[in-house]
Amino acid sequence: MHELSVMQEILTIASEHAQAHGARQICRLTLRVGELSGVCPDALRLAFAAAAGGTPTAAAELLIDSVPVRCWCAHCQREFAPSTSFYECPDCGQLSADVRQGWELEIAQLEIV
Ligand SMILES: [Zn+2]
Repeated sequence: MHELSVMQEILTIASEHAQAHGARQICRLTLRVGELSGVCPDALRLAFAAAAGGTPTAAAELLIDSVPVRCWCAHCQREFAPSTSFYECPDCGQLSADVRQGWELEIAQLEIV
């Protein structure tokens, strides 16, 4: 499962961060996961349950912020949320190759004690 290795990497980064700040435990871990990141939030939650034991994140609450895809239309000079996978501007119908968000896979916030 791809998400398990992703989560192990996240937990390693989170644990190192907590140790660097003299914390023993992480109480909340917030991730930003883009729709295009190739990672499924439900699978991430399962991976967290499987991998967090024995790490400073064992008792942490996992929050996942899903980041929707936003494209830029050069013609209309504005961002839009595509309704299909063709990234078609809802106003002018032009296809956009300029994806401004949706690729994220990052730690947004760590709460440590
Ligand atoms: Zn447009």
